[in-house]
Amino acid sequence: MTRFVDNPYLVPFDGKWKLAEAPTTPPDDGNGRKKRKKRLEKVVGEIDDLQRRLYAENKRAILLVFQAMDAAGKDSTIRAVFTGVNPAAFQVSSFKQPSSEELDHDFLWRTARRLPERGRFGVFNRSYYEEVLVVRVHPEYLKGQRLMDPTPSDEFWANRMQSIRDHELHLARNGTRILKFWLNVSPEEQKNRFLSRIDDQRKNWKFSKSDLDERGFWKDYMHAYEEALRATSTPHAPWYAIPADDKPFLRLTVAETIRDALAQMDPRFPELASEKLGELGRIRGVLTKDD
Ligand code: ATP
Ligand code: MG
Repeated sequence: MTRFVDNPYLVPFDGKWKLAEAPTTPPDDGNGRKKRKKRLEKVVGEIDDLQRRLYAENKRAILLVFQAMDAAGKDSTIRAVFTGVNPAAFQVSSFKQPSSEELDHDFLWRTARRLPERGRFGVFNRSYYEEVLVVRVHPEYLKGQRLMDPTPSDEFWANRMQSIRDHELHLARNGTRILKFWLNVSPEEQKNRFLSRIDDQRKNWKFSKSDLDERGFWKDYMHAYEEALRATSTPHAPWYAIPADDKPFLRLTVAETIRDALAQMDPRFPELASEKLGELGRIRGVLTKDD
């Protein structure tokens, strides 16, 4: 039986999830920003400990997919949640407009090359999901993809979703645990964050005019997200729609979900066979004789 982390933000597997009902703000649970920041520190430590075990075990990997509208907090969440993780066992990949080489291949090729090795964390800042999100909102991009039939029909998108489900099932069967996070920011909060990118000189570099253009397609994006999350939230690769208007809550909830998934995986330090243990004992003897 496939195990998955069940929490209030899990997108159910019945294909009926309603994006409009997904909250963008935290529940009123009496926890303030300070408390959440404090708890995040603890959870970050727990992730670090579990990650050491996963690395030592060296059999399974974990893939964490982050998708969101601009300024929802992908970068800062990744930074905050993985501060404790050994950089040698951890790789973040960001996916922007595909290069000409990437367009020479099927749409899963460029991300497949960046999948985590056994024992490691792979973080995708955007992913193959862009192919059913930004490309769905702008179907004219398909013309540049050198496809046999670039008609953006319902069947076309359904086939892409099917490819994604098949791909994820294959990865899951072969030892990669997959968790996917959609950071659910409200259009009002996005506007505030854009304004602060304009007003705060240290954030100016983060703002681009195209972010404003994409904001104009908000409704189309929400439609694309709803369809994509409905079609691809599965027990072996669940989606979590996390309220993103409050950053401490967002970071803590993402961190807790990852911690819970790792705890379910229960990675173990390898146990040495008795002859190896005996050998270590002999080596210990040799080393301590020097003293
Ligand atoms: P930042 O936080 O730096 O803004 P970003 O991920 O938004 O990070 P940008 O360079 O601003 O990076 O934007 C990348 C753009 O590339 C996004 O608008 C995204 O939708 C687009 N993109 C990603 N994958 C694809 C794809 N397969 N086809 C077309 N566009 C894509
Ligand atoms: Mg951007």
